[in-house]
Amino acid sequence: MSDYDFDLFVIGAGSGGTRASRMSAAYGAKVAVAEEYRVGGTCVIRGCVPKKLLIFGAHFAEDLKDARRFGWDVPDCRFDWPTLRDNVLADVDRLNGLYTQGLENNGVTIFHERATITGPNEVTLASGKVVRAKTILIAAGAHPHVPSFPGSEHGITSNEVFHLETLPKRVLIAGGGYIANEFAGIFNEFGSKVTLVNRTDVILRGYDAQVRDRLLQISMTKGIEFRFFAEFEKIEKQADESLLVSMSGHDPIEVDCVLFATGRVPNTKGLGLETVGVELNERGAIKVDADNRSTVESIYAVGDVTDRVQLTPVAIREGQAFADTLFGGKPHQVDYHCIPSAVFSHPPIASVGMTEGEARNKLGSVKVYTSDFRAMKNVLAGRHERALYKMICDGVTGRVVGLHMIGPDAPEILQAAAVAVKAGLTKDAFDATVALHPTMAEELVLLK
Ligand code: NDP
Repeated sequence: MSDYDFDLFVIGAGSGGTRASRMSAAYGAKVAVAEEYRVGGTCVIRGCVPKKLLIFGAHFAEDLKDARRFGWDVPDCRFDWPTLRDNVLADVDRLNGLYTQGLENNGVTIFHERATITGPNEVTLASGKVVRAKTILIAAGAHPHVPSFPGSEHGITSNEVFHLETLPKRVLIAGGGYIANEFAGIFNEFGSKVTLVNRTDVILRGYDAQVRDRLLQISMTKGIEFRFFAEFEKIEKQADESLLVSMSGHDPIEVDCVLFATGRVPNTKGLGLETVGVELNERGAIKVDADNRSTVESIYAVGDVTDRVQLTPVAIREGQAFADTLFGGKPHQVDYHCIPSAVFSHPPIASVGMTEGEARNKLGSVKVYTSDFRAMKNVLAGRHERALYKMICDGVTGRVVGLHMIGPDAPEILQAAAVAVKAGLTKDAFDATVALHPTMAEELVLLK
């Protein structure tokens, strides 16, 4: 230790870095973390958390409308973006404080500045201070990818969307993945005219085809416009500040805001990785082994910077496994099998395990059970959208290998059901469980 200022120096105080720092310090290591922006990282500051709060806000549009069918005399309501925005940002400040406190309470030294690796055991801070550490952990996250074409600088990304001065009347969302579909729902519920532009006709690649189709159909019914097979050509800012977006295969479109949701790129540039020999993979992410160790013995990496599974709970598990293994005397590796995921679209999607297509390719014999139904509340509300639950089973053993849902509260329901899928239970085990009536979740034990 005498040769080093710290046992562990962590670069990035996001989900993975914070967990690794806190736990390593709790195990007795002397830990420092450098964060150039705000403690909490993408998820807390400009991702999952503020996004989910906007989703809650957006839901009121439908709830207020539906309330009338349930006997409530709701006067015409007006949505005020600055109120929601400022309340959400205030909550982000609160969480930023809690995360900072969590590190400080565990005795972690926080450097609020950028750090660059200048040796296998050395980090140089933006202020010029040089710090030596026995182990370095890179948890620098990722940033939004913006396609390069004339005028693309006029667009914004998920980094800026939470701070918009005013609610745009017309929004173009580029991409067809998580962020695109979530914000399409949010802006549409707030009353903006939303056009989603994608380079193919596949939204949410990786999710089950039937579930994706259902979201597309419901989104279109709600008034979201989709433009497929479109490549951006240019964005021109006009005299009135509106943006004229040209793309292949479609007419130009005039909007007030362009939101790029076209994937995220690992933050590996300018970290000094090449000087010490930390290798990157073909996607520009840090190459690590199952113990999160990079190609340099003293340097590890967790979270989005390694581009394994870009999800907060995964980064947290990687940070935890790192701390347990290096400083806790409890070596273990993250189990990436059966990770549940959700898209907080309107309505939301949730999924765990194999899609029908994947199961057919891998297992050959599969059995598929579905329930296509209108949620009770939607029936009385006169809302015509239908939920879809789909269970994929191994045709030989009956083991449930995939569960895919779209409908109200699907992520809340799937989290519990994912335990059963992860545990390798069979369809019979679901069937043996008595339904909890009347719920939407009961469909899971009544699938035919
Ligand atoms: P996604 O990977 O989900 O989607 C990216 C979309 O952009 C795809 O439709 C992709 O098309 C398209 N695209 C990629 N590159 C280009 C390009 N050069 N030009 C035009 N279109 C392009 O990324 P997101 O940005 O939506 O989200 C980033 C990550 O953040 C997600 O992968 C996810 O891991 C995480 N996230 C998770 C959330 C959750 O758990 N609910 C919510 C938000 C983000 P194609 O399919 O053809 O590649």
